[in-house]
Amino acid sequence: MRDKGGMLWIDLRDRYGITQLIFEEGKSSQELIESVRKIGREFVIQTSGKVVERFAKNPNLKTGDIEIEVSELKTLNPSEVPPFTIENKTDGGEELRMKYRYLDLRREEVRNNLILRHKMMQQTRKYLDDQGFIEIETPVLIKSTPEGARDFIVPSRMNPGQFYALPQSPQTFKQLLMIGGLDKYYQIVKCFRDEDLRADRQPEFTQIDCELSFVTRDDVISTFQGLTTHLFKNVLGKELEDFPLMTYDDAISKYGSDKPDVRFDMTFVELTDLAQGFNFNVFDQSELIVGIKASGCAEYSRKQLDALTDYVRRPQIGAKGMVYVKYNNDGTFKSSVDKFYDENQLKKWAEAFEATPGDLLLILSGEANPTRESLSALRLYMGDLLDLKPANVFKPLWVVDFPLLEWDEEAQRFHAMHHPFTSAIPDDLGKLSTDPGAVKANAYDLVINGIEIGGGSIRIHDNETQKQMFDALGFTKDEAEAQFGFLLNAFKYGAPPHGGIAFGFDRLCALFGGTDSIRDYIAFPKNNSGRDVMIDSPSVVSEDQLKELSIKLR
Ligand code: ASP
Repeated sequence: MRDKGGMLWIDLRDRYGITQLIFEEGKSSQELIESVRKIGREFVIQTSGKVVERFAKNPNLKTGDIEIEVSELKTLNPSEVPPFTIENKTDGGEELRMKYRYLDLRREEVRNNLILRHKMMQQTRKYLDDQGFIEIETPVLIKSTPEGARDFIVPSRMNPGQFYALPQSPQTFKQLLMIGGLDKYYQIVKCFRDEDLRADRQPEFTQIDCELSFVTRDDVISTFQGLTTHLFKNVLGKELEDFPLMTYDDAISKYGSDKPDVRFDMTFVELTDLAQGFNFNVFDQSELIVGIKASGCAEYSRKQLDALTDYVRRPQIGAKGMVYVKYNNDGTFKSSVDKFYDENQLKKWAEAFEATPGDLLLILSGEANPTRESLSALRLYMGDLLDLKPANVFKPLWVVDFPLLEWDEEAQRFHAMHHPFTSAIPDDLGKLSTDPGAVKANAYDLVINGIEIGGGSIRIHDNETQKQMFDALGFTKDEAEAQFGFLLNAFKYGAPPHGGIAFGFDRLCALFGGTDSIRDYIAFPKNNSGRDVMIDSPSVVSEDQLKELSIKLR
């Protein structure tokens, strides 16, 4: 409320926006004005009056051309002064806003995020329904399995000492639906993973989960490319161009990442052969020497280069140092390794990078995988510095031909890179027993602007191959039977070939909304310690409850 003595205004807010109410000494009754002066922020009021054209219009408000000359006003419920101002630029910090999330939801920005989410949900349902998919719910109380992330478990009162698990995804159920003959399934479904949290992770999150029978990789890809373009068109009004396919090996060697941001090039160039053998120990002892070209950055100052070195040396990035080469505008070279390499050699490097005068080369070296990861981080960092990642440009791609298995040094065994139900590329199946690390998976990930939107695979659908896979993953026969006997058994009864995919729905919403944090698109999210600070959960439970569940705390 603004009270200028002779005139008073109230900003009346509801889900649809703000409307200005006006009261005038002389025009409005004294009794009405008295009652208006008792109204505070966030009171719930009911009012009626006459809509009139405003004298001073507010072009920033949808209703900025009008106001209401109030004749009647009633307070339906007063409010305490809220702990932060409910405006777009609020004075409330994250923790406070989460504690009073119901007040935060009154802010336009948060409301719009939820409306965006709603639209995405409706359009997803519309598209998939039009394509003949049926929405089927799968259970939330299921069984704990050791593969994948950590499970959330739920004690069973009626079965003392036994536990359910919350699903990390409906993977096995959707496969059983295929065996049940429901050949196109989808569900917008909550999944639960007990992992450490980051901005793009929540312990409970939502997937658009799908499975189809009698399909190839390309069928799944084209159907979900269709969903993606449908959403972009109908929610953002954007036409997406092509969705190129990139092999996993290419993604790793060119971008150092299986989810490359291809809004800009700056692809990796390997110098291992060119740069070894010149008495520069650091390079000579490296498995890989690889760099990127920052076009037009040859004039970076000492300070700017030091800042980049500091960046790659951060523990999260993990490089030991960085070598730079400036290809000066006059055609000469200046590098941090001038002691070891002369102009001729540096020129050869520049040729490998297809560099021209004015360019800067940034080079890392060391063990292959960590070096690629560090350079990938540097590439993205340079992309930010050079403004190469426009927020309103969306560049999708499919990453395909992933390795089926990943070697786990610590556990000395293979893990499934996606999950144990993923099939191998048919030609590679023979290698599963001889050279498991070389087998490629019939799997695919959709990546947009460096964000993994979703992934899936063509599945194993016969008992023998599934057993072989469990064997490659180090399961004994008994373990495989105890954990997945139901699936192995189901495969014996005419299981159709099938495949599917799941999209991370919260992430997709954040991408559409233009922010990194999926929390902003969840009505009641958890904080970084997995807590809901509003309802104060998790919490202790009573002795009696524990007893009933046959649980003893130490
Ligand atoms: N269930 C898988 C996941 O949650 C997706 C899939 O393979 O369909 O990542």
